[in-house]
Formats: sequence, C-alpha cells, structure tokens
Amino acid sequence: MATALDGYFRDQLLERRRRISDLGDGAVAHGHLSRLLAEVDQALARLDDGSYGLCEVCHDPVEPDRLLADPLLRFCLDHLDDAEARNLEADLALAARIQRGLLPAGVVRAARWEVHSLFEPAGVVSGDYLDVLPAPSGGELLLVLADVSGKGVSAGLLMAHLRAIFHGLDGAGLPVADLLGRANRLFRQTTLAPYLATAVCARAGAGGEVELANAGHWPPLVLGGDRLEPLPPTGLPLGVAASGRFTAHRLALAPGETLVAFSDGLVEARDGADEVYGEERLEQVLRGAAGLPPGDLLAACMSDLAAFTAGTPRGDDLSILVARYTGEASPERPS
Ligand SMILES: [Zn+2]
Repeated sequence: MATALDGYFRDQLLERRRRISDLGDGAVAHGHLSRLLAEVDQALARLDDGSYGLCEVCHDPVEPDRLLADPLLRFCLDHLDDAEARNLEADLALAARIQRGLLPAGVVRAARWEVHSLFEPAGVVSGDYLDVLPAPSGGELLLVLADVSGKGVSAGLLMAHLRAIFHGLDGAGLPVADLLGRANRLFRQTTLAPYLATAVCARAGAGGEVELANAGHWPPLVLGGDRLEPLPPTGLPLGVAASGRFTAHRLALAPGETLVAFSDGLVEARDGADEVYGEERLEQVLRGAAGLPPGDLLAACMSDLAAFTAGTPRGDDLSILVARYTGEASPERPS
C-alpha cells in the first residue's frame, strides 16, 4: 500500500531504529533491544515491498489513526493477536475507570435540590457528559448534560474535553446563555471539524428558579402535578457555528417539581422489532412517576425502558439527570 504517508512512516521507523541502536550502544547484547530492532527492520522491509500498513490476516489497511500512533502495527482491530487484544482491553478498562471518576456522585443534595444521575455507556466509554456543580456559596448549582457526536474512545476524549471547558467556565458566574456561547467557541476552536455536541446547561437556585439554555439537545422536561413542560433548543449544537448564540428559558419550580434531562440513548432506544422508544412513551412514564421520590422516578424510567427493549442491545450511550427541587435545606452532615 504505497501512500503519501510512506515517507513519513519511513522517517519514523528510521528515527526509531537510530534511537534503539543508541540505547544498545553499538553492541546488540540485549535480547529485548534486538527484538525491537528486528521489528523495525521488518516494518522497513514491508515499506519496500509495498505491504506496509496492511493487516497480515485480512490484507485490509490497518486503521490509519492506530498506525500513526504505532507504526509497527501489523494487524487491523479485527485481527489483533492475543497479547495485543489483551493490551487494548486493559487500556479501555482503564479509560472507563478514568471516565467514571469524571462523573458526579449518583446523588447530589445541594442548594435545596436533590439530583440523581445515571450514566451507562453503550460500549466501554461514553460520549455523554453529565455534571452537577454546586456553587461554593451553596446558593445554586450548575447542571450539565451533553452528548458528543460519535461513540467510543474518540467521543470519550471529547467528553473529557467538554467537561474541562465547563469546569473552567463555571466559576465565572455567567448567565447560562453566555456560558454556552463561550463553551461553543472553545469547543469549536479546539476540536476537529466534524465533531459536535448537543448540551443542556441549567443554573438552579435555592428558591426553585431555573435558567436553562439548550444547545440543540432533546428538550428536557419539567414535571410536577399536571405540569409537563418541554424546554426546546435555544441555539444550535456546540461546534456548529463560530458565532453560536443562545437564549435561555427562565422558569420557577415549586417544591416537589422536577427537571429531567436525558440523552438520545433513552428516547431513541429500539426494541427487537426496531421500534423507537420515543418521547411520547417517556412522557407517559414521567407523568405516572412525577409524585415519586427522584430516585424512584429514575428507576421507573429505567424499568420501563428495560421492559420496552426487552434485552435488545443498546446502540447509544445513555444518561439521565433527575433534579428535584425539594425546597428544603439538606440535613447537616454529621461531622
Ligand atoms: Zn485484518
């Protein structure tokens, strides 16, 4: 496979050869070093005979991003040898642990709110981003639920990037529309072109007041008693336009009312007959569960979703945020 990158890979391999030789200090006494040298020489030979970059099993090209990261690769993802497959699995398991560590606790009580969240990647890592950030003053909290386009490791990296952006902006005390505007500019400046993220960002105050901006995301719902109020987008997804501008919904929740935000893994879930779960069914479940404690409300959503999909594997990352305005200060923690 002669490509425009062959020269690049040849330079990389020769540089690697030089460094390994320097380590060996001329005398190739070290078994490990001589094996590494042999691998580099074999890769150079593959460049000469035109087979470089092709999987040795299926002869299809090895994934270019993997080859750029490791020019010695000889197998595509479908045909890793056992050791490589184990390494990749270990890497992914570590990535998943790190990602879990970036998430809020399952239940956060602050500023007279009680927030329950659920996060379930479709694969090992997720492109969804959830956050609950109580202000140091204790008077309000910032809620974020976002969904980066794509899936898997690349989406997971962007999720971490997006989280850093929101954490960086949170302290400035900006109105949420401005906060999303800045997040959009930063995301767009620092992310490769085809990637977008839809996002809901809300500031919830201790008096039940909520200011919420929605960047092209599924409308979150406010529910309580007879109330079921969707909060449609107030701007385009992050990353679409450099000049992205947002407005905000302003609303007030009474004690016992709840704000529910979710990613498309919920409403776009499919059953075995390829039917979509849909907003209507979700709204029905939420109406029925509006009076339950927030943790039970979340459980009711999950159990209805499980009844609908009946074991059909999930195709998309799933996250749900259930924020109940309790109107009551959280009990003091025992010291
Ligand atoms: Zn292959």
